[in-house]
Amino acid sequence: MNDQEAVEILAVGAHPDDVELGCGGTLALLSRRGRRVGILDLTRGEAGTRGTPETRAAEAADAARILGALFRDGLDLGDGNLCTDRSAELAVVEVIRRRRPRLVFAPLAFDRHPDHVRASRLVTDAAFYAGLRSLETGRPAHRPQQVVYYPSSFLASPTFLVDVTEVFQIKLAAVHAFRSQFFDPESKEPATVISSPEFLEGVTARARAFGQLANTGAAEGFISSRPPLLVDPLAAFDGFETGF
Ligand SMILES: [Zn+2]
Repeated sequence: MNDQEAVEILAVGAHPDDVELGCGGTLALLSRRGRRVGILDLTRGEAGTRGTPETRAAEAADAARILGALFRDGLDLGDGNLCTDRSAELAVVEVIRRRRPRLVFAPLAFDRHPDHVRASRLVTDAAFYAGLRSLETGRPAHRPQQVVYYPSSFLASPTFLVDVTEVFQIKLAAVHAFRSQFFDPESKEPATVISSPEFLEGVTARARAFGQLANTGAAEGFISSRPPLLVDPLAAFDGFETGF
C-alpha cells in the first residue's frame, strides 16, 4: 500500500464487495493491461449480518490483490446509514485529490440499497468539487474525466459494455474471497440474501446475459451520463453478425 499512489481508475463502493460484484471483471482486465487501478470502500461493512469488520477487511485485502489493485482505501462513513454531509464529501475529495484518477467507477443511484443510492450522489459531487481550485484542502485540485456507474441489485440498461470474458474467473475468485459473505456450505452463520448459491449464479447469469448482447462470453455493463466516444464504430460491433 502506498499512501501517495496515483491511479488511472478508482473504483468506489459503499461496502467492501460492491466493486467486486459490480465491476470486478473490468478492474481485473484494466490492471492486467497495465492500467493503474485502486479501490475505495466508503464504509467498513459493519452492518453486515455475517462476518465481522475485521474478517471483511482481511477478505477485502485478498480480493483487491486478486483484482490487481494497487491499494484499497477505506473510509468509515457508516454502513446502513451512509453519511453524505460536507465532512463526508471532503473525505472523498481528499481521496480523489490524493489518488488523482482519470476515471471513477461508482454505484448506480438506482438501487435497492439506500447506501448505494447515497454513495452514487456523494461520489459524483465529490468528483466535481475535487476539481474546484477555490476549495483549498492542502492538495492540488483534480477532477476526473468522468464518473461512470455500475449497477448492483436492480437492472439498468447499460450505456456501454466491457468484455470481461478472459478475466471472468478472476472476478469470481475476487467475489469468493469474501468467504464470510457468500455461499459457503460449511458456514454456521445466518443465511442472507447474498449467501445463497442462487445469488452467485445470478452474478454469473447477468454477466452471461450482458455478454450475449455483445456476442461474447461475459460482460459488465456501465451507465454513463455522457455516451462514450467510439474511436472505431465499425470495430465496436465486430462479430455481432454471427451473434445470437
Ligand atoms: Zn453494497
